[in-house]
Formats: sequence, structure tokens, C-alpha cells
Amino acid sequence: MNHLIRTLVPLTLLIYLVGCGSNPYTNRSQLLLISEGQEVQMGNKLYAQVLDDPDVAVSTNSAEVDPVKRVAKRIISAAQQSKYAERAKSFNWEVNVIKDDKTKNAWALPGGKIAVYTGIFPEAKNENGLAAIMGHEVVHALARHGAERTSQHLAANLGMQITSHAFNLGRVGSSLAMQALGVGVLLPFSRSHESEADYIGLLLAAEAGYDPQEAVLLWQRMAEASKGAPPEFLSTHPSHTTRIQDLQKWMPEALAIYKQAPKASVSPLPAIE
Ligand SMILES: [Zn+2]
Repeated sequence: MNHLIRTLVPLTLLIYLVGCGSNPYTNRSQLLLISEGQEVQMGNKLYAQVLDDPDVAVSTNSAEVDPVKRVAKRIISAAQQSKYAERAKSFNWEVNVIKDDKTKNAWALPGGKIAVYTGIFPEAKNENGLAAIMGHEVVHALARHGAERTSQHLAANLGMQITSHAFNLGRVGSSLAMQALGVGVLLPFSRSHESEADYIGLLLAAEAGYDPQEAVLLWQRMAEASKGAPPEFLSTHPSHTTRIQDLQKWMPEALAIYKQAPKASVSPLPAIE
């Protein structure tokens, strides 16, 4: 009897809690245990924490800020006409450049909060490269990859909680969700998430009028940079050997979109020391 309860209770709770989704481009199914509202709230909170950090300098230099804002505007507009149109329109997008020439990083949080560090400019090289990075990042947010990582973490924790205690679901569930979401946003993306962000990001950048072929060159530059001190970007966006091969496999589809799209003007990014 005890055994039955131990098995049935978590199962029922999980069925009650589980939200499932699937990616509209790849049809990959997703376990989603937290709501979009919770996810966006946590994204906003993390973003405010980063920008309020006295050690973080938000750039006001137009040579650094303008190209990033230009690219972001076109990528967001492409996203708003994509299969993610509804979510992309609901996001309260915000883009900031962080003046930190040593940090090679960029990210987009749930809810559309984006940060690009000046340290990644040499790898991005020009606005096509920046579009490849931002297309990739924006897809992590739009495809709810953070929520998915959080859900996996949450399911594991909740399983332990369920088997070891009698508990108040509302309280335990929500505090675990908050903890897990914080962790989920900071964990490295899995290979399936990276691949999805590469593929859909490539299409978005092409739709936004940026040459998708730069994505291959970008990842080559990233690989080159990782031979010294690995860029921080690679700690949350692990590279894999098939990435460039996959990009080349998807290139005809992306180039066909690029051919039809109104072209963006593309300038080199400012040099950093
Ligand atoms: Zn990634």
C-alpha cells in the first residue's frame, strides 16, 4: 500500500503539473513545468540584477551601441513574423551593450532581455556575425529553452521531495520553481537546444536580411578563440563538432530566405583593445 502511494502520488502530481509543448520548427517535444509568466518574471528580475550591478558598465558609446540596436531591431522584427510571432510580440524587448572588452559573451533572457558584451565584438566581427549571435540567443528565449532546463531540474527535485516528505504542493512547488529557474537560466544549454538555436537562428538572421554564411565563419572564430582562454559564451553554449556541418546542411534553406529578404546594411564592428 505504502509503495502504491509512493508511486501514484508523484505520478498524479506530475500529470497535474506537467505542461507539454513542442517546437514549431523541429517538432521536438518539451517538458514545461513552469508558466511563461513565471519564466518572464524571473528573466526580468535577473536582467535588473545584472544592470544594477555596480561592476557592470552599460555602454552609452554610440559606436558600440548603434550596431547592436540596429541588428536587434531587425532580428526582433523577423521573430515577430516567424512561427514565434505571438510570443515575440508579447515580449517587452530590451537590448543593452555591456562595456567589458574581456568578456566574450551575449545572452537573451525569457521575456526578451538581451545583453551583448563588447568582448565578443572581435568574434562577431561585423553586423552579419552579430546577427548570427543574436538570432541564436533570441531563439533560446523564444523556444523556452530556459524553462525546459528548469523543468528537468524541477522534476528531479520534485521527485525527491515527493518521496521523502508530505508537503504543501503550492508552497514547495513554487519555491522550487524559483530556485530551479535561476539555475536553469545559468546552466549550459544541451546539444538539442544548441542545435535548435543554430537552425532557427540561422533562418531568423536570413529573414532579417543578414548573410547566413557568416554563421559558419563566426563559429570558426569562436573555435579559434577557445584555444586561448575559452570565451564565457562557450560555457553556456557548448560547442560540438557537428555544429558547422549542420549549419552548412541548413544553408541552402537559409540562403533561399536571404535571397528574398530586404538586405540589411552591414558594417564592421568597432575594434576593441
Ligand atoms: Zn546557445
